[in-house]
Amino acid sequence: MSSLRHSRSPVILQTFFGLVSFLFASLGAIAQEPPSKFASLAFVNANILTCNNGMEPANAIAIQGDRIIAVGTKANIEPFLAKSTKVIDAAGMTITPGLIDSHLHFIGLGQSLQMLDLSQANSWEEVESMVVSASMRLPKGTWIEGRGWHQSKWTAPPKGNIDGYPNHKALSIVTPDHPVVLTHASGHANFANEAAMKIAGVDRDTVVPRGGEILKDADGNPIGVFRENAQSLIRRAQMRTTERLSEEELRAATLTQLQLAGEACLKQGITSVHDAGNSFATARMLKRFAELRQLPLRMAVMIREGSDSLAAQMETHKWNNVGDGFLTVRSVKISIDGALGPHGAWLLEPYSDLPTTAGLNTVSIEEFTKIAKLCKKYDWQLCVHAIGDRANREVLDVYEQVLGEQVSSGHRWRIEHAQHLSPQDIPRFGKLGVIPVMQANHCTSDAIFVPQRLGERRSVQGAYVWRSLIDSGAIIPNGTDAPVERVDPRASLYAAVTRQLPNGDTFYPEQCMTRREALLSYTLWPAMAAFQEKELGSLEVGKLADLVVWNTDLLTCKPTDLLTAKVELTVLAGGIVHDADASNTEN
Ligand SMILES: [Zn+2]
Repeated sequence: MSSLRHSRSPVILQTFFGLVSFLFASLGAIAQEPPSKFASLAFVNANILTCNNGMEPANAIAIQGDRIIAVGTKANIEPFLAKSTKVIDAAGMTITPGLIDSHLHFIGLGQSLQMLDLSQANSWEEVESMVVSASMRLPKGTWIEGRGWHQSKWTAPPKGNIDGYPNHKALSIVTPDHPVVLTHASGHANFANEAAMKIAGVDRDTVVPRGGEILKDADGNPIGVFRENAQSLIRRAQMRTTERLSEEELRAATLTQLQLAGEACLKQGITSVHDAGNSFATARMLKRFAELRQLPLRMAVMIREGSDSLAAQMETHKWNNVGDGFLTVRSVKISIDGALGPHGAWLLEPYSDLPTTAGLNTVSIEEFTKIAKLCKKYDWQLCVHAIGDRANREVLDVYEQVLGEQVSSGHRWRIEHAQHLSPQDIPRFGKLGVIPVMQANHCTSDAIFVPQRLGERRSVQGAYVWRSLIDSGAIIPNGTDAPVERVDPRASLYAAVTRQLPNGDTFYPEQCMTRREALLSYTLWPAMAAFQEKELGSLEVGKLADLVVWNTDLLTCKPTDLLTAKVELTVLAGGIVHDADASNTEN
């Protein structure tokens, strides 16, 4: 992109005249008022998808500080341009509001990015050399974590292996000062070096935990591989180390994780996240970062604590828009069931492929009701993880019972995931104003086993029923649940409009979102789900200046092009925070 200051675009002006005059009529005719402030940043010649109520198009936008001061045609923003304004010619590229991922685990994402990704290693020797180079970067005593190794992906079995599993000896010699833990791709085994085993107190005499196995060589010594429940021997040792960190060390470690997660989000156009579950202690730390302007993007944080702790701290921990709108804490997160894959989702009827169970209720209805009453008392938003149809019904029932007539009067209580619903509960979302927060990418990654678990009838009637929910008046904020899934919004946008699996099959395509709904699911709808639609979610005068420049029109490109759409620029609070090609922007 190159700078441009004085050109006009009469053709576009005429084309958009009708729409733009309508737009500015509704915005108070700002173009006619003499501007009191000049823009610091402006874009012209852009295809702007405003995501405002009428989705009115625009092709120029002006920003002053962290706010949008004009949007419409180039003529409309011209009075706001000064010599000092950085004007970017978008050369026809598309601009959307900054995207909002409405359900992820932000610190967990940062932690996952610190881990070595071993999934592409072709041999154990390759894994070893990745660990060794990490040990040269990290201070002595720091745990080196990795995940994704799989012995069947290796071209040859490692030297001294037992049943194909690696032996720690060679690696332990070169990493004496760094405990190492490397999780298997399946999550059902981990590997530890000698330093890690020493901290864990593991030797040939260690009692094997029930349901686990410690792999040993012919002499009876552990080779460093722990299966199933035996993994906890190493995990617990690692946790004990974290617990010993001083407050200062913990703050520094967390800040690094926040920065890594922020970088990953901003380069994909995500400028806000709803963080699904932190302690009050972490929230206090985040508040301090927000006050020091150290948060990499905007966070709406849900608190996950028990009812006693909530009762004691809710009043003093409710914060709106701390640090110029970077941190909001006013929501509680609980989980009342598990996930569908491991048969943990709580169903009304037993699983089709495991008729002995109907899933798990993980937080009692009594405790949940107690928390719901606290949320009502202190005017906090409640966000409940519910996946199975029974779990969803229980949540809707408690919401109704606790809020009574007031359910739809602005509480905006949410159900996280809402993956599987009984047909009779679907209309209750729109009617009660309960927000189903659904991660479209979960649909296409789970689709492969959903019909096995639920059977055909329940799948077609109730699994990821976006169309039915929207048609009955609900909004569906989208997201990724990162690091469970990659934080890439394009995968969720694509899943939302196609429901296409990696193998080409489609999962009940009649439940697809439209392209426009998918865009709203990452912009205005999540803003509403965090009470932030006056500040975020659309490009309108007075709102915060978070936006993304794309090389592709997300509304009209081929569906598959959504997967490769490129973020050229990300603007957060009026500043460019990601530039795909720094040499492309000039002053
Ligand atoms: Zn989650």
